[in-house]
Amino acid sequence: MRVMVVMAARCVAPVTPMRWSRPGALARRPSSASPLLSGRGSTKPCAPVRAQYKRGMTLGEWCDENGEYGDKLMEEWYDPDRTVDEVTRGNNIYRALWRCSAGCTVDGEQFTWEALVCGRTRPNRQGCPGCAGHVPTDAHNLLKWCQDNGEYGQKLIEEWAEPDVNMKDVTPGTKKKMTWRCSAGCTEDGQPFTWEAPVQHRTSSDRHGCPGCNPAAPIDLKKRLGKIAR
Ligand SMILES: [Zn+2]
Ligand SMILES: [Zn+2]
Repeated sequence: MRVMVVMAARCVAPVTPMRWSRPGALARRPSSASPLLSGRGSTKPCAPVRAQYKRGMTLGEWCDENGEYGDKLMEEWYDPDRTVDEVTRGNNIYRALWRCSAGCTVDGEQFTWEALVCGRTRPNRQGCPGCAGHVPTDAHNLLKWCQDNGEYGQKLIEEWAEPDVNMKDVTPGTKKKMTWRCSAGCTEDGQPFTWEAPVQHRTSSDRHGCPGCNPAAPIDLKKRLGKIAR
């Protein structure tokens, strides 16, 4: 057995090792005179060079090459300090100012936001956070949501108990905790009962209400609210 292993090793060893050779194929060199091989050689080795050139191109040049999306970026560029030809399209440091071209407004003004240039040109492109519903806008905010949601919305407006935050400055889906005040008569130490809950809990389909009004409220809360004998 040992002899056979040695012989087998000798059978393959004499071939000069080349990184791009593989069993059953001719070794291919970019410098080969064959038209077939030189054709292959001219595209593959050039690809990284082209990618490098692309990384260095300006945002303006990149937009020119990217059809409608490029036009949209040019339209949304709103930076006061630089032009689209003063940043590279892959710049991952500069936070530029952009202005939504799809109609988002805040207090009647076109919505603007800051974003890295590379974030807008890379394959998973970041769009306007207002259009995506991530930030409050005139068309998408908690106050608007309440106004569009009948009696239940009015109840939320009534229960809003944040002294320093306006309902139009948060999104209906935010997980931020806000203070609410019971509108159904729960009191604690003679004052209307308040509690904290994420906005999302109040606007999602399984709407959470005042914990004091909940028949399943914990006993210590019921005691605090005077709903059962202390
Ligand atoms: Zn938008
Ligand atoms: Zn209550």
